[in-house]
This record gives sequence, structure tokens and C-alpha cells, in this order.
Amino acid sequence: MVTADYKSVGFIGLGAMGAPMVRHLAAKLPHGTPIFVFDVVESIVDDICTQHPGRIFKSTNAKDVAEKSEIIITMVPEGSHVKTVYLDPETGTCCSDVSGKLFIDCSTIDTATSLMVKDDIAQNFPSASFYDAPVSGGVVGAKKGTIAFFLGCASDDPNLPRLTHLLSMMGKQIIPCGGPSLGLAAKLSNNYLSGIIAIACSEAMDMGMRSGLDPRVLANVYAAGTAQNTICDKFNPVPGVYPEAPSSNGYKEGFKVQLMRKDFGLAVEMARRVGTQLVLGDAGLETYDGASKDPRCRDLDSRVVYRYLGGNEDWQKEKP
Ligand code: NAD
Repeated sequence: MVTADYKSVGFIGLGAMGAPMVRHLAAKLPHGTPIFVFDVVESIVDDICTQHPGRIFKSTNAKDVAEKSEIIITMVPEGSHVKTVYLDPETGTCCSDVSGKLFIDCSTIDTATSLMVKDDIAQNFPSASFYDAPVSGGVVGAKKGTIAFFLGCASDDPNLPRLTHLLSMMGKQIIPCGGPSLGLAAKLSNNYLSGIIAIACSEAMDMGMRSGLDPRVLANVYAAGTAQNTICDKFNPVPGVYPEAPSSNGYKEGFKVQLMRKDFGLAVEMARRVGTQLVLGDAGLETYDGASKDPRCRDLDSRVVYRYLGGNEDWQKEKP
């Protein structure tokens, strides 16, 4: 049991994921712990501070957040934003003395940038710590507090109990992945696999349906056989097969196809860097790149790849 004493917590990046995450912290941190927040979009900061008076406080930049907070969480879109937040010479977290502070970056970015930021902090402030902790579970999971954290740290890391205690306020599972940047490596390889399965599932459903099969029967066949997988069972790309899947609700409220394109690209880059021979990488990347630019698919759940590949969405009219 960790008896965590949080003097102050900082949060940078209050977007679709960050805002609900910080709300969970506001609800669950000990009463006396102030939360200092910053986002480049000032109105988001103002809104959240107004909604949580006396609990969440506005900061002027990332440096200001780091000066006031003992633990700093970041949740921004890409590696370039993470570099700016941490290393900008005027406004970055690391341009003041951050000795002893704990940084947790939850953004999904490339492992090289994450390691670069970690090394920079270690060199200049040896008593500070930096962890990658990308998340899975989407905006719905962030709102419900059920996201999973893939933590770039060893299972015997002395900070693990404290990290687990804090991250548990925002999520359900915290998985230490072994060491620096390995949370990101885990997340990227997971999304590569999930992205490839969605394409394969779309293609397999389509060939079965064009041959005359009812997609519900097909899904039952996969579930009973060697092709069983969660994408097919719970996120089936064909509308109307699984009622709660984003596809059955106009491909809304899922994992945006542009984010899949981004993560898939990062995974392919990582695979090249470490020497993995990819047979499916280029085909997958081309598919998600095309789908993310297609106005029929953009901003929708990534399983909209079924639509992008020409799948029949109106099968229910033929087979009620
Ligand atoms: P988002 O674009 O909704 O939010 C990002 C926020 O960061 C924005 O409010 C933006 O203004 C802010 N920002 C950008 N640069 C900044 C800077 N220099 N300083 C301060 N704030 C800055 O993105 P999101 O959906 O919240 O995703 C955040 C990260 O989480 C991404 O890396 C994404 O891949 C990952 N992720 C997203 C989902 C999802 O379903 N949305 C799921 C899992 C992981």
C-alpha cells in the first residue's frame, strides 16, 4: 500500500485525452493537492480552471507548470510537441531547475524522441526522472477512467509504486514494460497488430459476403475458429454485425483513422530502425494513409477502412 503524498501535480496538454484525465485527478487526488495546467489553446485552460475553482490552476507555459509542480504529466499529439514542451529554451519544462521532479509523458510518439528527452533530463538533472507512459482505451476510456498505461519502466523500479498509485486515478491497468521507451515500443507494436487485423478482417468479411455469406454467420465462424480476435468480435468493421462497435454507429466514437495512420507510421519506422522484416507494413501504411485523407473516412473510427476498401455497408437491406 502506497501512502502517496502529492504536494502538487502539473498537467500539460488538455485535449481529447488530457482533459478527462486531469478531471479524474481533480476528483481523486488528496484535497490539498493543487493541479497546475497548461495548453497552447488558452480557452481550454480557462474552461477547465473555471470548472474546478481552488483545485486546478492556470499556468502560463510548460516551464511555469514544472516550476510549480512536483510531478508533471504531459499529453500532447506528436514528438515535435513533446520536444517543445520539454526542451524549448524559453518556455520548456527543463529551462528551470527540475531536480528531483517526476515527469510522465503519456503522448504516443516515436521512441527516439522519448529517449532523447529522457537523456537530456538525466544529463542536466540527475535526480529528476522521466517515464514514457502511452495509453490505450481512447477518449471513452479516458472519460470513464478505464484506460491502460504502458509504462516505460522496470518492474523493480523504485518509482513504480508511486507511478502506479497516481496513474490508477486515471486508468485501470498499469503495465510496466521493462525500461525506458518500452512503453512506447509496446503501444506501437500493439497498434500495428490491431491495425493490420482490422484490414485483414475487412478483406476477409468482404470476400465471404461477396461469396454469399451473412456477415453475422462469418463473425460466428471466426469466433469459433482460429481467426478469433477482438477486432472481429467487438469492433467488427462491418456495420450491424456487433451492435456496440463504432461501425454500427456510423463509425463514430472510436479511434480516429488519422491517429491510426500516425501510430502505424511510427510503428513501421520503429520496425525499420530495429531491423524487423515487414511484409505487411507498407501495404498497411498506404491503406491508412489513403483512408485518413479520404473525406468519406476522415475523423471516423479507424475500422472505417472497410468502407475505404469498398465493403458493402447496406447488406442488411438485402438480408434483414
Ligand atoms: P488532441 O489533439 O485532442 O489534444 C492534444 C492537446 O495538446 C491539444 O489541446 C493541444 O492544444 C495541446 N498541445 C499541443 N502542443 C502543445 C504544447 N506545445 N504545449 C501545450 N499543449 C500543447 O490529442 P489527443 O487525442 O488528446 O491525443 C494526445 C495523445 O494521446 C496523442 O499522442 C495520441 O496519439 C494519444 N492517444 C489518443 C487517443 C485518442 O483516442 N484520442 C487514444 C490513445 C492515445
